[in-house]
Formats: sequence, C-alpha cells, structure tokens
Amino acid sequence: MDAKLIKKLDLWFSRVVRYRAAGKGGFAQCFTCSVIDSVVQMDNGHYLDRAFLNTRFHEDNCRVQCRKCNRLMTGNIPRYKIMLTKDIGEERISELEELKDKPLALTSKEANDLVKKWRAECRSIRLDKDF
Ligand SMILES: [Zn+2]
Repeated sequence: MDAKLIKKLDLWFSRVVRYRAAGKGGFAQCFTCSVIDSVVQMDNGHYLDRAFLNTRFHEDNCRVQCRKCNRLMTGNIPRYKIMLTKDIGEERISELEELKDKPLALTSKEANDLVKKWRAECRSIRLDKDF
C-alpha cells in the first residue's frame, strides 16, 4: 500500500476515533489523564506504536488522548495499559500484541472503502453532536 493511502487512512481513522469519543459540542476526555478538551485539539493515541502497520488502524489499539499524553509523554503507555485493560480486558490486548508483527491485512480497495466509510461517519457525527 502506498504512503499516500496510509496518510489518508491515518487522517480519517484519527478523526473517527476522536469524533466517536466526543460528546455534544465536540469535547472529550483524554483516555489516560482525563483532561477534557475539544476533540479537534486532541490526538488519536495508539497503545502499540503506529510503526506496527497491522494494528495502526485497529479500534482496540486507539483512544482519544490529549497532546500532552500523546506527544510529550509518548503515549503515557503505563497508564494507557491500565485503562485499556479495564476497557477491553487482557485477552483482547494479547490479541493485539499477536497482530502487531503481521503485515497489514488490508488491500488498497478495502483501504479506500474504509476512508469513504469513516469520512461519511465523521460528517454524520459532527452534525449529530453539533461541532
Ligand atoms: Zn492526557
């Protein structure tokens, strides 16, 4: 898959993860420190590093994070693991760990379809939540 398509997936996956977490008006709580901010100002934080392509777009691997946790604290991973364990359980975390070293299981056609789907979902969320 080419870099341009990965970039598109990143953009729309990041938006869909953040927008889903938003409440009315577009605010959400950071998954790891609980600070509340506009989702437009926040990041899509990965539990397992984005370098692992096969889990980069996996919903279990991503949560909304403030920029401080995601960028300055490089994901605040010890806290992320505690919160993610509460959220999805150890078994699903182990499944993620197993998936991470495999090649990205996504064709270009599937990737383009995902971009379309996420874009439409983002539009609908913004209308619904009014931001
Ligand atoms: Zn935070």
